[in-house]
Amino acid sequence: MLKLLVLTTAFALCLSHPLDEISKTNGTAQDVIDLSQYSSEIYGKPDEKETGKVVEEYTEDSGVNPEELGSYVEGDILFTEQRTGRNGLAKQTARWPNGIVPFVIEGNFNNRDMGIIEEAVMEYHRKTCIRFVPRSSETDYISLVSGRSGCWSAVGRTGGRQEVNLQSPGCLTKVGTAIHELMHALGFLHEQNRHERDDYVTVQFQNIQPSAVGNFDKASAASTIDFGVPYDYGSVMHYSGSAFSTNGRPTIIARQGNANMGQRDGFSPRDLQKVNSMYNCNRNSAGIEGNGVVPQQPHGQAGGRPNLFLSFLGGLANGLGIKDEESVDNNKV
Ligand SMILES: [Zn+2]
Repeated sequence: MLKLLVLTTAFALCLSHPLDEISKTNGTAQDVIDLSQYSSEIYGKPDEKETGKVVEEYTEDSGVNPEELGSYVEGDILFTEQRTGRNGLAKQTARWPNGIVPFVIEGNFNNRDMGIIEEAVMEYHRKTCIRFVPRSSETDYISLVSGRSGCWSAVGRTGGRQEVNLQSPGCLTKVGTAIHELMHALGFLHEQNRHERDDYVTVQFQNIQPSAVGNFDKASAASTIDFGVPYDYGSVMHYSGSAFSTNGRPTIIARQGNANMGQRDGFSPRDLQKVNSMYNCNRNSAGIEGNGVVPQQPHGQAGGRPNLFLSFLGGLANGLGIKDEESVDNNKV
């Protein structure tokens, strides 16, 4: 009887989604992502005026990454809806249960954009146990949108609908930018803001745009978990060496060798270790190959190209956001 009561209570908690209750919905403190290092500035509105404009003018020759051009906290962290808990400001988000992330596509993405998004998602599916699945009726999900407001995402699962914005074509120039924003949505922060980063890089504050100095704040050791993975210059979550420079000179200099910082070609081996640790992929998956995890067959996947993208394309064909002539051809796959 007691067991039944406990189960019923747990089920009831699963049905509630206010953010101050989110730790309870997931069960353990380990599932909570601490946002206490951030001020209320993480909440706001998409910035079309400045960020949209500079990302529109972005080219690969810019010397920085497009997600480093935003006026948001750390360039690309934005919570578009303020969900208040008992104490006013939400201080935590959560991981996605079992690494399953329901999604919808509501942006105006052309064929090429969709190819980049598809490649990013497939990288997760190939190398981690994260599964992006077309949303059916799930309460918590991400919506991939393409507002003229740069590249941005919230951190972790906020509860309800949450947007990941990928302005086209700037934020879809490289697959690593899409992977980067999705890693934020999974709960990861920027690598160069780790609490021990000063052992690995020297931040050149004199070269940083005055308004962007806060983007280089270090996280507190208490609020972050590194999963035992050492600092990683090659992380897809690391800023480029000239991020937020006011004079073209470096803002981050590696203390060890000639490290290449800010790559956006894809996951680094250590990125994969972190994703797979946060989501217990090693425990949940059938096996591990190298730094990645042999993926389980997602529900409904019969092999070859996953049904996931048939759903992507089907949803687009139903008019979820296609307006231009380059719209995705539903017969492509
Ligand atoms: Zn970022």
